[in-house]
Amino acid sequence: MMLAYMDHATAAAAEPETMELATVADAAECAAARDFGGLVSARPAAVVRPASADDVASAIQAAALTAHLTVAARGNGHSVAGQAMADGGLVLDMRAVARRTQMQLVLLSGAAFADVPGGALWEEVLHWAVSNHGLAPASWTDYLRLTVGGTLSNGGVSGQSFRYGPQVSNVAELEVVTGDGQCRVCSPSAHPDLFFAVLGGLGQFGVITRARIPLSPAPQTVKWTRVVYSSFADYAADAEWLVTRPSERAFDYVEGFAFCRNDDPVNGWPSVPIPGGAHFEPSLLPAGAGPVLYCLEVALYQHHHQHPDDVEERVCEMLRPLKYVRGLEFAAEVGYVEFLSRVNRVEEEARRNGSWAAPHPWLNLFISARDIAHFDRAVINGMLADGIDGPMLVYPMLKAKWDPNTSVALPEGEIFYLVALLRFCRPSGAGGPAVGELVEQNAAVVDACRRNGYDFKTYFPSYRAQSDWAAHFGSKWARFVDRKARYDPLAILAPGQKIFPRTPSAGARAIV
Ligand SMILES: Cc1cc2nc3c(=O)[nH]c(=O)nc-3n(C[C@H](O)[C@H](O)[C@H](O)COP(=O)(O)OP(=O)(O)OC[C@H]3O[C@@H](n4cnc5c(N)ncnc54)[C@H](O)[C@@H]3O)c2cc1C
Repeated sequence: MMLAYMDHATAAAAEPETMELATVADAAECAAARDFGGLVSARPAAVVRPASADDVASAIQAAALTAHLTVAARGNGHSVAGQAMADGGLVLDMRAVARRTQMQLVLLSGAAFADVPGGALWEEVLHWAVSNHGLAPASWTDYLRLTVGGTLSNGGVSGQSFRYGPQVSNVAELEVVTGDGQCRVCSPSAHPDLFFAVLGGLGQFGVITRARIPLSPAPQTVKWTRVVYSSFADYAADAEWLVTRPSERAFDYVEGFAFCRNDDPVNGWPSVPIPGGAHFEPSLLPAGAGPVLYCLEVALYQHHHQHPDDVEERVCEMLRPLKYVRGLEFAAEVGYVEFLSRVNRVEEEARRNGSWAAPHPWLNLFISARDIAHFDRAVINGMLADGIDGPMLVYPMLKAKWDPNTSVALPEGEIFYLVALLRFCRPSGAGGPAVGELVEQNAAVVDACRRNGYDFKTYFPSYRAQSDWAAHFGSKWARFVDRKARYDPLAILAPGQKIFPRTPSAGARAIV
């Protein structure tokens, strides 16, 4: 193994065969000191560009020899609260391993899998699997420029989750370098405790260097429909009916979002119509419609062996009983890859108008179906009624699709909603509320959930006090602490999550 010390610019330009260690001269220049959230910054001592899992192990072993160094795996840095940072520690650029590692098709007992590096983008997995093999994973995120290791460390949800499970339910095997510098292969049958610890484990137990993802034949086209509701009760009842139908009579994808009853291009009805150029006719809304409306978004895949008319008939059959506002339905037929890449257009536009580089005070919650109507009244139609300058996702998924052995903390209810406040701030100087106000509003939303006694969890949690982490994990906390002591006894890994302080030697760190 060779360590090359170089400045940031040189390191970025080179693509060598061996691991690199780039010292960080200037925090402002260092991507690893920042993330998509743009709210916090932490300067690492060095950025390591590993070429292999062995290099990841070497970096962790080197950190273990010191009394203070921590190690953060960085996927694509799309966290919003510094979760992939290491203040004064080592940041592992997981994209570097991915750039040097080929994806592999693995056939086992007639089933197909993709062996992919932890630092691969889901977009890369999609293009590789579809173009080379006509196959695809079943479970996605809305946006695919996220890494496999990054989303598996959290959950990985989208409109497919209700049917196919989240991404953490769609993994057959992992190669993981644990906090003691050992490289282990784990699965539901080999080292299952490590396998489930790492899934949704916020990077606390090991660095995912390879994941084996099940594949199935990729569909060719997608029948994509959006329908509009003025009543949240109708919206939620229909969404829950759709996600609890038997698989053979269900859509492949069910999502939805709240929007404002006005013509604001970001927050209002222009955000609804598909395909581009379709017209939203507000006069069709019922007289009593409130300030907030809801858009249910569904999709059914079409494979080449299916007749388009049969697929269309299934779509109609599922839409017919829904109580949406007639006339406010929008439909498009798009290619499968185009459908999964739909957020790329949002990225392009946000890069053009400067909001991609501006701070993103995002808040993601899982809220039990029991409390979602109250949340709608108190929060969506209360403090958020004017919109959030970005999508406000609200859609249900099923707890039965999540393995309770993973580290993910979920609400108690069998059906819970993802509520995602995906704020796109205007660039500084372009008007709009100050970022601090939006951060405070997020805190007020979480506070309202607590005060009202909702059954909820934050998704992509960000806490500072260990007591808050204990409350977040609830009945899973003791196991989480136990797994940390087993797999990362010095608390070297993922310091940006701020759960466990680094210890010079193994010992108890957490109060259970
Ligand atoms: C535009 C956008 C859209 C999004 N859409 C969705 C969505 O639809 N659904 C959804 O579920 N999420 C979504 N997310 C959130 C996303 O899943 C998280 O940001 C997640 O952290 C993945 O980002 P990343 O790969 O850049 O990981 P990073 O932000 O780099 O890392 C996240 C955490 O995982 C750890 N980590 C990273 N790589 C590894 C690894 N190989 N092994 C172990 N730990 C690792 C890091 O140390 C850190 O703690 C979205 C985010 C953005 C910015």
